[in-house]
Amino acid sequence: MNPLKLVFRPFMRGPSCEDVNRFLCEYMEGTLPEKTRAKFQAHLSNCSACISYFEQYKATVEMVNEQKAISIPDQLVERTLDFLKANIHRN
Ligand SMILES: [Zn+2]
Repeated sequence: MNPLKLVFRPFMRGPSCEDVNRFLCEYMEGTLPEKTRAKFQAHLSNCSACISYFEQYKATVEMVNEQKAISIPDQLVERTLDFLKANIHRN
């Protein structure tokens, strides 16, 4: 099976929170295909958990850029993932 198909299959119905989480980096870099990007934005405008995550991610990237660090600390990634999971379960 084409691995690309597996990855993008959820986008047929729109991305889940997990997909948004997984592809946020590509989204921020503008490397997502146009159609996927549109579905991303649709999800982001309707999901408070992902909006919070997105804002947090953006702030982190800006902070990291200012410090000229190379990568986001693993600890923060885990913390935001936990945050997102907690929000999903609440819904
Ligand atoms: Zn979401």
